[in-house]
Amino acid sequence: MRHDVLIVGAGPTGLVLALWLNRMGVSVRIVAKADGPGTQSRALAVHARTLELYGQLDLAGAVVSEGYEVGGVNLWVGGEKRAHVSLTETGAAHTRYPFLQIFPQDRHERLLVERLQSAGICVEWATELIDFEQGEAGVTARLRLPDGSERSCEAQFLAGCDGAGSIVRKQLGMGFPGDTYEQTFYVADVEANGPPMNGELNIDLDDSDFLAIFPLDGGSRARLVGTVREDAATAGTHDFETINRKAAASLGINVTKVNWFSSYRVHHRVVDQFRAGRVFLLGDAAHVHSPAGGQGMNTGIGDAINLAWKIAMVTRGAAEDKVLDSYQEERRAFARKLVRTTDQAFSLATSEGALARFVRTRIVPLVMPTALQLDWLRDWAFRTVSQLEISYRGDALSEGEAGEIHGGDRLPWLELGEGRTNYEGFSSLSWQFHVYGYAGHALEDWCRAQAIPLHVFPWRPGFEEAGVERDAVYVIRPDCYVGLADGEPSTERLTAYFGSRGIRLPLSG
Ligand SMILES: Cc1cc2nc3c(=O)[nH]c(=O)nc-3n(C[C@H](O)[C@H](O)[C@H](O)COP(=O)(O)OP(=O)(O)OC[C@H]3O[C@@H](n4cnc5c(N)ncnc54)[C@H](O)[C@@H]3O)c2cc1C
Repeated sequence: MRHDVLIVGAGPTGLVLALWLNRMGVSVRIVAKADGPGTQSRALAVHARTLELYGQLDLAGAVVSEGYEVGGVNLWVGGEKRAHVSLTETGAAHTRYPFLQIFPQDRHERLLVERLQSAGICVEWATELIDFEQGEAGVTARLRLPDGSERSCEAQFLAGCDGAGSIVRKQLGMGFPGDTYEQTFYVADVEANGPPMNGELNIDLDDSDFLAIFPLDGGSRARLVGTVREDAATAGTHDFETINRKAAASLGINVTKVNWFSSYRVHHRVVDQFRAGRVFLLGDAAHVHSPAGGQGMNTGIGDAINLAWKIAMVTRGAAEDKVLDSYQEERRAFARKLVRTTDQAFSLATSEGALARFVRTRIVPLVMPTALQLDWLRDWAFRTVSQLEISYRGDALSEGEAGEIHGGDRLPWLELGEGRTNYEGFSSLSWQFHVYGYAGHALEDWCRAQAIPLHVFPWRPGFEEAGVERDAVYVIRPDCYVGLADGEPSTERLTAYFGSRGIRLPLSG
């Protein structure tokens, strides 16, 4: 049987891709070399932007109710708490999810697998991609099944969600330029007590090794993430005791039990291309970076959603193939920026040089408490780390500006009163138009003729503060980024916007 998409890999990236494609009516087959969903807690942090996208799939509620909400971040230097940021207060104006959601990756993957099963799709575990060939009409992949036999599989597209060691990437012969950090990272899930066990995220900038403490449940369970420097004396010998002594010395944390401990080397790399014909690379297969900002898994999920609606449009003949090129343009640019910024932040936090140490232990503690009083700085930091700030301005699918919103920006989340928001219509996973104020009859008629839902929101003064222009039209993509922002709506411009992007009207076709 030929499928629209063969998904290789059932980590968070492949599972979300399968869910979204299935919701949009695309037939998928999903295989994974692993025997079953991951059993390690690995990625803990689910950011606000991911929860917003999950809201479209009716998944956010389950992640929030089964996880733990972190409402604040503390910065420690020399055993003293030097700065505090309330995520709840900072994020409240920007998103329905003004917190850092903790939801361990093993439980997260199980939830995604269950949702797929209820949609009638079973992950084929212990099924490995051996190689593939692509032609004009599709891709033929060779799979090794659980009984050791080999079988070929045909699909229109192949999605390589097969992690950092991706065989899809290797077979495409793509470069994966970047580097490996000299430090060794460790993660430890522990039970502990002491001042940093306060239910918030605690980051220690003491000496050249980095340490962050993520609460797992608001009680005595926490994840320690840190670095240890490899040298001749410690190479390959670090164990939890050495690390524990350092953590205790800098933060006064007293670990009573270690449930899981692992150390590993980390790379920062981005693949040369995210698309090669009918084959796409997503998630860790396309980019890897320092786990310090908790961005890796969230970025893979963002890749999956960015690609899914584009593939759905192309497979049902609603858009030309060139729409798929925007996946690489949008997501590779973001991955490169992310790798650069996490690298800079991480280097500042861990660099051994005397100057870096002076900045970290003397300048940062002096400047940070005052700087974090600035609303705009706290806002920017929250929006950046939570991935609300991602924008595709200037890219092929983005056009125009109205108010402070440009084509390519995430649509601002707005409260409408009585508990309602402008994000409610997004579970349709379809294109839609938003007007805040008044939409003329010409626009209403045009939207009806093109089968595009038009949502008109009565104007409220708070909208202007969020950057929205009264009576402008905002063309919203299925992933709730703005495609076109037009302050002087004209149906000719709307027709031209879709036509020039290879998107066929009426949209329902
Ligand atoms: C200790 C640790 C802590 C982390 N913390 C965070 C965090 O807090 N926040 C965050 O965002 N990220 C974090 N990360 C990163 C995060 O775990 C990864 O970014 C995420 O797992 C990537 O998901 P993925 O689906 O792209 O790849 P993976 O999860 O690696 O999944 C790859 C899949 O491909 C399958 N596969 C591989 N080869 C083949 C083949 N030949 N044929 C078929 N299937 C194949 C595998 O079986 C697997 O199902 C952390 C990582 C580690 C190791």
